Amino acid sequence: MKFTKWFNLKTTPQLAPIPGTSQVANDNGGYVWAVDDWARLDRFLILGSEGGTFYVSEQKLTRDNAQAVLRCIAADGARVVARIVEISQAGRAPKNDPALFALALAAKLGDEPTRRAAFAALPRVARIGTHLFHFAEYIKALGGWGRGTMRAFARWYNDMDAGRLALQAVKYQSRDGWSHRDVLRKAHPVAPGQQHQAIYNWMVKGWDSVGETPHPDRVLATIWAFERAKRMTTRADVRDLCELVLQYGLPHECIPTEMKQFPQVWEALLPHMGLTAMLRNLGKMTEVGLLGWLSDAEAFVIDRLSRAEALRAARVHPLALLVALKTYAQGHGEKGKLTWKPRQKIVDALDRAFYLSFETLTPTGARTLLALDVSGSMMGPPIAGMPGISPRVGSAAMALVTAAVEPAHEIVAFTAGSYKTWSANNSGLTPVSFSSRTHLDDVIKATDALPFGATDCALPMVWAADNKVPIDVFCVYTDSETWAGKIHPVQALRAYRQKMGIGAKLVVVAMTSNGFSIADPNDAGMLDVVGFDTATPAIISDFATTAGRTQA
Ligand code: CA
Repeated sequence: MKFTKWFNLKTTPQLAPIPGTSQVANDNGGYVWAVDDWARLDRFLILGSEGGTFYVSEQKLTRDNAQAVLRCIAADGARVVARIVEISQAGRAPKNDPALFALALAAKLGDEPTRRAAFAALPRVARIGTHLFHFAEYIKALGGWGRGTMRAFARWYNDMDAGRLALQAVKYQSRDGWSHRDVLRKAHPVAPGQQHQAIYNWMVKGWDSVGETPHPDRVLATIWAFERAKRMTTRADVRDLCELVLQYGLPHECIPTEMKQFPQVWEALLPHMGLTAMLRNLGKMTEVGLLGWLSDAEAFVIDRLSRAEALRAARVHPLALLVALKTYAQGHGEKGKLTWKPRQKIVDALDRAFYLSFETLTPTGARTLLALDVSGSMMGPPIAGMPGISPRVGSAAMALVTAAVEPAHEIVAFTAGSYKTWSANNSGLTPVSFSSRTHLDDVIKATDALPFGATDCALPMVWAADNKVPIDVFCVYTDSETWAGKIHPVQALRAYRQKMGIGAKLVVVAMTSNGFSIADPNDAGMLDVVGFDTATPAIISDFATTAGRTQA
């Protein structure tokens, strides 16, 4: 009887828990640790639950995450609200919806001080009309409109500068079955002045007629310009429409579809277009011929994509840039019939912008192994519902951010089995030859094409020990659904530390919002971070330097 095969502190198969630890079963029967509720809150705020994971439905993942958020709210509501504001305002998450949903949970299900804090934070989390409509929809599902809710929505409108409110009104007219009119009818704000009152009237009733002369009030003239623009639908109107766009700064949402085929209209829109809108319309602007060879417009676009401060100020998330790059380079949209011939200079600029959109990094000099879990479960569903960005593709992109600044790095991809026999049938671990100059769209294609199989997250450490590769930091990009190994990742790491005499650290970069981690929470040399948090590469880099190269 091989007792120590099943009860062994140094080598435990992943299908059994390490004796004496608080390990739990993951969704695949492997044993890992459960992350605490605060870590789960961060994962939810950044990765959301859209589409679920390979193992868990969107429904269950959302419920589990909401329960974790509620436990955080019960423990410390003020801390939850502060965290929501922090992540949302810094643009650290690819989508703002999880922040809005968590804020709605705090606003409706928290205690009295938490509710007040959540409502007070509303304008900082719901920054545009669309956010407000989403929040309204969540509120409806969580108990509906009480007096606190009405006051918070009324304040959102009343406290906004009238000029900004007019622009919001024409730009974000409705979403998810909610319009400003619907919200105003629920919230009943008492306008703080005549301009606000006139905007509310237009939101609720519209205007009976629109004259040829601009409204004498500068703020209401924006609404007048929008009403005029709405009625311009033929080639003969192009010049007048451009005039309105330039003079009143109308956004592209105000342009009738028929007019979006004219390059002059896009030329008028481009100078004041938001960065996110610019990213979404690169294909269209190429198709209509605005972004042609050596054109001013192309130079303008490239220049805007090269400004790190502006990218961060506009909260352009790297995942949005990755999607824009992938979509633009393929020359057609995800749906619809639009096709274009991609401009290589713009592809290059998007590639550079991806790196610029993270917090600035300085090299630590740590010898870093970036290990990508490319097993079956990492094939999908897409991260945060972003089209084409599976967790495995997202991992590769994230790893490149660190690779671009750390000179001493290697990238490997792993599944399970023996790393000595990597092939489509018998997968294991293989070095991946991305250089920091490899274009992201090529990385995506190459990563997507890697063979996949079962999961053994211990492989990077086992491989490094067998090959005597000196490593200070192992960064494992994974969903922690590991199960196939003969030894747990932490045991393999401790064996590596002992064999090599290096106090190697482990960073687990979570690529889904499940509740698992291969990192031992009681080992100070291990850290959990969230994939596609714009702060993650900087956190990894801090962690790499905190204790230096400690000896085992
Ligand atoms: Ca897997």
